[in-house]
Amino acid sequence: WHQRSELDKLADLPRELDDELTRLDQDFWVSSQKLKDIVERFRGELDEGLSKDGQNIPMNVSWVPSLPTGREKGTILTLDLGGTNLRLCKVVLHGDEAHGEEKSTLDQEQYKLPEELKTGDAESLWAFIAEKVETFVKDKGLDKEYSTANPMPFGFTFSYPATQERVDHAVLQTWTKGFDIKGVEGQDVAKQLRDKIEEKSLPVELVCVINDTVGAMIASAYNDPKTVIGAIFGTGCNAAYMASLSDVTKLDPSDERIAAMQDTNTSTEHQKMAINCEYGAFDNSHRVLPRTKYDRQIDADSPRPGEQAFEKLSAGLYLGEIFRLILVDLADRGLVFKDQDTKNLHESYALDTGFLSQIEEDESPGFSQTRDLFHAKLGLQPMDVEIELSRRLAELIAVRGARLCACGPAAICTKEGITAGHVAADGSVANKHPKFKRRWTKALGEVLDWKKEWGEDGDGARGPIKITSAEDGSGVGCAIIAAMEIARRNKTRG
Ligand code: BGC
Ligand code: MG
Repeated sequence: WHQRSELDKLADLPRELDDELTRLDQDFWVSSQKLKDIVERFRGELDEGLSKDGQNIPMNVSWVPSLPTGREKGTILTLDLGGTNLRLCKVVLHGDEAHGEEKSTLDQEQYKLPEELKTGDAESLWAFIAEKVETFVKDKGLDKEYSTANPMPFGFTFSYPATQERVDHAVLQTWTKGFDIKGVEGQDVAKQLRDKIEEKSLPVELVCVINDTVGAMIASAYNDPKTVIGAIFGTGCNAAYMASLSDVTKLDPSDERIAAMQDTNTSTEHQKMAINCEYGAFDNSHRVLPRTKYDRQIDADSPRPGEQAFEKLSAGLYLGEIFRLILVDLADRGLVFKDQDTKNLHESYALDTGFLSQIEEDESPGFSQTRDLFHAKLGLQPMDVEIELSRRLAELIAVRGARLCACGPAAICTKEGITAGHVAADGSVANKHPKFKRRWTKALGEVLDWKKEWGEDGDGARGPIKITSAEDGSGVGCAIIAAMEIARRNKTRG
């Protein structure tokens, strides 16, 4: 780690801590060769997921058959049920009438999801959502423009794995990201939401349920035709891309839904389908990922042990927890925070990814900011060696996360023969961790054997596949998909 670390040094570690760090670094470091092995296996699981007997990665069919033209128009209400917030937006798509102005306008409200809702029951979830929709509709005066007879089109971004028979249908496969709401798994969330809407006579009509990755890809492609993948590196970890329909062998080509979807101008072999990979479930059978004892512990203590194996090593929800578990381990063995009250440190999920990035970013003299953070969050007074150790740990956990995060898009690109384009990324890790994008790009370059001249110090900055900041997927993206669906319906009704 002495060579690999980019951080300034504060103090020399005593022998025993230095040995611990060396051991941790060995466990957490993912070499170029290991990345390649992971990507190869990843590619196999992506293929398998498209077939009838897929096991780990679900490769969910989204029923979004094309990227947008950029001309989609309409006024749509959107709902985003994320890991922490619920967001409602009134989205106006201007399409080709934008005339150099913004192509969409947004009026939005965000509500915090009460913690107890995440482990409550379906009834409380939908009641909470319907109540917020009702408030939003009233506050924005939408009830004056729309009625139950003339409802406002409504799109729902549901960022969990779901089996879709149509774009307005979504059976939850399993909760992820620590959610555990009873009575939703195995059920159609579109129906559950629609029932509540009817019960409350809300003037909206649910048109589509989408995944956040599909939304990110579609919203980004609306403005940027180079978009090839929509990815989320946030609380969870996942991506979507446009597959050739002929590769989606789990769909029967004679399926009448495919004929209905078919654009008359497109032949079957060129017909596409947006696939929500749900690759957080990669390596659930534990063949290739380098899991440490801390990763195993996170999995065992999670509401769904054995699921989302890849996500648990790489997503924002878990990075702070990995860090905490290492410190707990060292503290319990008397190696750090001796004679201090570590009660708060023993609290599960006490630290988030923001904590880690603040530590890595700290440039204050003597790293006083890190000292303050430890005090504020955990009631601890770290010594110089503990600060030194924490900085190295924060770095090696984040580096492993970023390198693993590159494997999903790398696998999609190799599988699809994509050699250039934009990976439109959203999520707290991508947006808020200052070093994530560079580390991610460097790892991608290592996997794809990029030429040295594509990046200074091999960081890949000039490489042909770039990570870009996605446009608003759960607002604008969801609205575009609703608009596309409405246009398609109108055409079929002809
Ligand atoms: C969910 C995906 C989602 C991802 C990012 C995962 O836990 O299963 O549906 O796209 O998180 O939000
Ligand atoms: Mg989200």
